[in-house]
Amino acid sequence: MQKLPDQRRLSGDTVAALFPFHLLCSTDAYPRLLSAGTAISKVLPDDFSGAPLQDYFTLKRPCLKETTTERLIKHSDSFVVLESIHHRLSLRGQFVPNSETTLLFLGSLLVSAADSLLVSGFSLKDFAPFDTVPEVLILHKFREMQLCDLEKKQQELSDTMVSLDDLSERANTDELTQIPNRRGFLERCESQLKAGGEPNSQLINLMVLLDLDQFKAINDTFGHAAGDQILVETGQRLQCEVESIGSCGRLGGDEFAALVTLSSETEVELFLEKVRNALVQPIAHQRVVLQTGLSIGVASAQPHDTVEQLLYKADVAMYAGRDKHRGQTAWYTHELQTAITKRAELEVALQAAIDLREIVPYYQPIVSLDTLELEGFETLARWHHPDLGAISPATFIALAGDLGLLQALDELMLDHAMAQLQQWCEQGFSGALHVNLSGPTLTDALPEALLQQLRQYSLAPHQLVLELTETSLLDSSETTIQVLQQLAAIGVGLQLDDFGTGYSALTHLLRFPVNGVKLDRSYVKAATESRRSRALLAGLIELARSMDIGIVAEGIEDDQQLHMLRECGCPFGQGYLFGHAVPADDCAFVPHSQRRAA
Ligand code: C2E
Ligand code: CA
Ligand code: CA
Repeated sequence: MQKLPDQRRLSGDTVAALFPFHLLCSTDAYPRLLSAGTAISKVLPDDFSGAPLQDYFTLKRPCLKETTTERLIKHSDSFVVLESIHHRLSLRGQFVPNSETTLLFLGSLLVSAADSLLVSGFSLKDFAPFDTVPEVLILHKFREMQLCDLEKKQQELSDTMVSLDDLSERANTDELTQIPNRRGFLERCESQLKAGGEPNSQLINLMVLLDLDQFKAINDTFGHAAGDQILVETGQRLQCEVESIGSCGRLGGDEFAALVTLSSETEVELFLEKVRNALVQPIAHQRVVLQTGLSIGVASAQPHDTVEQLLYKADVAMYAGRDKHRGQTAWYTHELQTAITKRAELEVALQAAIDLREIVPYYQPIVSLDTLELEGFETLARWHHPDLGAISPATFIALAGDLGLLQALDELMLDHAMAQLQQWCEQGFSGALHVNLSGPTLTDALPEALLQQLRQYSLAPHQLVLELTETSLLDSSETTIQVLQQLAAIGVGLQLDDFGTGYSALTHLLRFPVNGVKLDRSYVKAATESRRSRALLAGLIELARSMDIGIVAEGIEDDQQLHMLRECGCPFGQGYLFGHAVPADDCAFVPHSQRRAA
């Protein structure tokens, strides 16, 4: 029996990739089809495997009535033509004894020109591995191939395979660090998880996600060369640590990952410590020494985890840890998953609550500290979910920020507040209503929209005061400042909220056209506890007064604080001492007319 030279090198994959029209048959007396190339499979039913070759093909040249293995082998020195019984299609090629039990037909489509491809129901795509080769070449590629040429051909083929391998190697490697990229890493993980897949095994498969802290700052300060050096060094150090126990890769940016197989909890701990130590070692770059922090997320593989699930878990752990503070190693836990699920539910609920106007305003009084007369109210959002209960503003406002819903929420509150103010004014209220607005709400469409609403509800602009947190104005652009100027021109009040908690409180007073500040309650609290804080508070109040800027102290809870603020000359205040935030129906005010009469 004639053997294909060095048959072992022509793997099943190679044959499949290079011979889209091959057929693999058994060497039973009447050969049976075992498998077929991707292209020829198109004309075979799904369950062809095991069927006799002659159910689908007849040998046209030489014309044989019965296709027995014996006869095919007899003709294996020359080209034969196979004709499909069910399709208008002929293949030209050679039967080659492949192993003791298999016979390989290496064929090409028998057509004279490329358009005939279409006639026969094929397209150039069926020749995928050769799609850069001119079509004629494709068709002739195997035509003149004699068995004696096969060795040479095979070398060519294996060269092609090497370069294909090379290509796939390159596609799987991160160019900068020379360790696997996301794709390459995921591929390795697949096989690693499969290999260690015995459910009862004591081995621990650990997915470790690593993210450099302060990388961007280094990149910005020392330049990209420095950033690149950190990435290269980090990749190599990681590779060193995992080499014998798993694989690693750079997922993108400054994010790396490793999947390692360890045999005990102790090993796990040691490994995590070693990796952290190795990766945070300083790196010398030119004349500076660079050092980054490292946040790590860890998840241990459960029996049915896919690579993606495992990576997701490590990612969840890393971000959760980082939220607390950077530079941590955080584990994925069930509690974490529960928290995430809960948060996801809350996200859906919040969106719905805004749409259905279920978030409602409560109003907290603002008083004159001298006379304790009511000056106005601050509108504070409240959300009572039918199933989840009362959700604190700190929670849902932060969530709205993450979800990009702050503007919708603010607009809802603004609308509620204006309708309420109109109603109160009709009942004789003459104070101001404060509404909190966040950064995203300050769009250039806001002034016009607000003007319209003021008209719609017949309100005097000065009765509306917008509270803007310092932090929301921190990264404000020129547009924001223009919007604030337009709002000021309309005549609505603008107050800087949480004054003193931002970074450059004093410059904000000059930069933004505000006519009032709300002194953060932390100042009030601190001022009754230390003399220095009290001096600072007195200074701030004095400053605001000298700039003719209104000032409201927040969070006044007791008489001592009230007394101290009065002494410092603070004109207005707000806090539990005067009243909590309550629904509109519970708000008490003395109508203006009666006040004058009193
Ligand atoms: P803020 O604007 O500084 O509001 C004052 C917060 O202090 C309110 O908390 C209020 O209930 C609380 N407070 C009032 N008096 C006292 C007191 O005497 N002692 C103490 N310890 N706290 C007092 P709340 O309602 O939890 O609101 C938290 C933050 O949520 C608000 O802080 C504000 O920044 C934001 N917020 C509330 N409603 C809205 C809204 O409609 N839109 C926007 N963008 N933010 C809102
Ligand atoms: Ca406020
Ligand atoms: Ca405040």
